Amino acid sequence: MAQKKCSSCGKWNDKSSLTCGSCGELLDIRKKEQARLKKLGKLPVQQEESALFEIKPEYPIWRKIILSILRPIYVLFMIIAGFFVWLAAWVSA
Ligand SMILES: [Zn+2]
Repeated sequence: MAQKKCSSCGKWNDKSSLTCGSCGELLDIRKKEQARLKKLGKLPVQQEESALFEIKPEYPIWRKIILSILRPIYVLFMIIAGFFVWLAAWVSA
């Protein structure tokens, strides 16, 4: 049976278990690293493009207005671009 060794206390746990049955340490290294980064507040930003058009409350009013105008255009552009990609794939098939 496949087992994972706890990096914290050395106890063997079932491969499907996420945390150590003995000390509660996360067994998945990738998840452990994510949890560590999250704790430090350094979790990598996953959606860079949406953050670009994010309207933050500390923004000055002119920036909020520009963003509120640009955001629907950007979303619409992405939909059209996605449609053309789909169309190109459909035509070539
Ligand atoms: Zn453990």
